Amino acid sequence: PLPVVAVVGRPNVGKSTLVNRIIGRREAVVEDVPGVTRDRVTYEANWRGRRFTLVDTGGWDPDATGMALKIAEQAQIAAELADVILFVVDASVGITDSDEAVGAVLRRSGKPVVLTANKVDNQLQELEANELWSLGLGEPRPVSALHGRSSGDLLDVVLDAL
Ligand code: GDP
Ligand code: MG
Repeated sequence: PLPVVAVVGRPNVGKSTLVNRIIGRREAVVEDVPGVTRDRVTYEANWRGRRFTLVDTGGWDPDATGMALKIAEQAQIAAELADVILFVVDASVGITDSDEAVGAVLRRSGKPVVLTANKVDNQLQELEANELWSLGLGEPRPVSALHGRSSGDLLDVVLDAL
């Protein structure tokens, strides 16, 4: 089986945009990873000739009550099934309570985490990404999933962690 990279984070940070950016047009739903429900959509991805399974999490209703708990639960499940976790934070918003909750789950998991500072659409916004150091998950990697800015650099870091 291919190594599994799970994309986690609270709603609206750009997880699905990042997944689409990574899989491009070669999108294909692959076989079920154990524990994957309809809330967690799996794709086969490829970077520099290395194939891996990419899991997009978080199809739940963002208005549901108990959302922070639900997000933390999803992060927990993703951490269990993944070899590497791509934790996405919206650098244009900064760290929220939900981000803190996910960060705590991931720090406990012991799995390699690549901290992604998304929505860094230009060089000026790169400074905002530095705030994410406080999550205690290492170096924040600034990207723009929407525009593709630095997404190749991010994937290089993911491959190094696999
Ligand atoms: P998800 O809920 O985490 O899967 O987030 P989505 O991928 O659905 O994105 C939520 C919103 O953020 C959408 O309107 C996206 O177009 C926007 N978005 C995603 N990535 C970026 C980015 O890099 N820059 C900007 N400016 N917007 C983004
Ligand atoms: Mg999504």
